[in-house]
Amino acid sequence: MPEQCGRTFGEALLSGYLDGTLVQGDEQRVRLHLEDCESCRTLVDGLAAVKETIMTSTFDMPPDNEWSEGPSTGSSRVARGVGWPLVIGWAVLVCGYAVWEGWQESENLVERLILVGGVSGLGLLFLGVLLDRLKAMKTDPYREVQK
Ligand SMILES: [Zn+2]
Repeated sequence: MPEQCGRTFGEALLSGYLDGTLVQGDEQRVRLHLEDCESCRTLVDGLAAVKETIMTSTFDMPPDNEWSEGPSTGSSRVARGVGWPLVIGWAVLVCGYAVWEGWQESENLVERLILVGGVSGLGLLFLGVLLDRLKAMKTDPYREVQK
């Protein structure tokens, strides 16, 4: 068990070590311990793997598996083409509802500005993603698969 290895710091430091967010003293302490403690090296490797999985799945935006209807790339492309506008429409509805609700409840102008600013920022992000998608679909060899 890692607790029995003589480690004098918590897992938070190991995690920070991975992220490179530790101050120099802590960083050195972790590095020295890792040099002669195999169980902590294993732990750090595990953390790194988890982080990598999270990063990869976060940036792998289009949920191909969820939208695809079959093994054919043609139908999965079509499904994705339909899926994205649905997702965007849903996001717009949710944002609109959130703004409406927040608008009713907020007391002053500043709160409303923060609300509208945040939500329209999100909206713009979604719009950007949508435009990228549409552009990608146009440049895809899409028609060739469709027959
Ligand atoms: Zn250790």
